[in-house]
Amino acid sequence: MTSTDSPDCLFCKIVAGDIPADVVASSDTAIAFRDIAPKAPVHVLVVPKEHYPDVPAFAASDPEGLASLIALADGVASEVADGQYRLVFNTGPKAGQSVFHVHAHLLAGADLPGFA
Ligand code: C5P
Repeated sequence: MTSTDSPDCLFCKIVAGDIPADVVASSDTAIAFRDIAPKAPVHVLVVPKEHYPDVPAFAASDPEGLASLIALADGVASEVADGQYRLVFNTGPKAGQSVFHVHAHLLAGADLPGFA
């Protein structure tokens, strides 16, 4: 465990290997694993190994870590899709966030519907 692990956090347990996940890539600071309920042909979650509740907290404390997470997501997208993708950080329950360990949804593999 690192000092920022949160003992009851689902994604901290996945990072620690205590809960299985289909890991597709990892770096020193982040891991990427397939979402168990995919919303697109490619749906991968990219999470920092350290615990932050959401992306503003992560960006404020570790901007380089956020940049590394995005680089890992981009690499995954190049490997498992065609390098074109959507990256979504749900932030807060009203936005659909249900796991309060920051994670990027990497969605790809199809023509995704636009917003607005
Ligand atoms: O943005 P939000 O917090 O709702 O995203 C959480 C995501 O974590 C969901 O897409 C859910 O399917 C995924 N999940 C997972 N493995 C788990 C539990 C949740 O991939 N064991």
